[in-house]
Amino acid sequence: MKSLRLAPMGAVFPKIPCCRCADNVRSWDRIAGKTYCPHCLEELILGDAPPIAERPEKRRCSICRAPGTVRYLTFPLRSRRPIEVDLCGEHIRELVSRRLGPKAFGRLRKQLSHVQIQTNEIFLLHEAFYDGNGQALQPTPEEL
Ligand SMILES: [Zn+2]
Ligand SMILES: [Zn+2]
Repeated sequence: MKSLRLAPMGAVFPKIPCCRCADNVRSWDRIAGKTYCPHCLEELILGDAPPIAERPEKRRCSICRAPGTVRYLTFPLRSRRPIEVDLCGEHIRELVSRRLGPKAFGRLRKQLSHVQIQTNEIFLLHEAFYDGNGQALQPTPEEL
């Protein structure tokens, strides 16, 4: 199984409310099978909320190939089919806080292109957050 892939058809029930605040306006991202709205996700990363304590899976990070990952699932804008990405703890934090380095961004972009999805269709990789070279434009503060 690839470390970035389309989720199996019909395997994901779309509108599950946020596991922290119960918001269910849209199909929110999931981390290790739990749903988080963007607000709760950001609080989580900024350290205002209890951190994610999920047992890592025995897979390799889609960006750095390090073993021990959590599964990040997101719904691309124009696709009804979500994608799943295996990410190590460091890279899931960088993704959510919108401060991936250009190299990491490039690796995700390449793997997304294999499933015909552009970075602009992924909320956290949108061009409002990264320029064409994968330079982070609006990173959230570093202190965790
Ligand atoms: Zn929430
Ligand atoms: Zn990694």
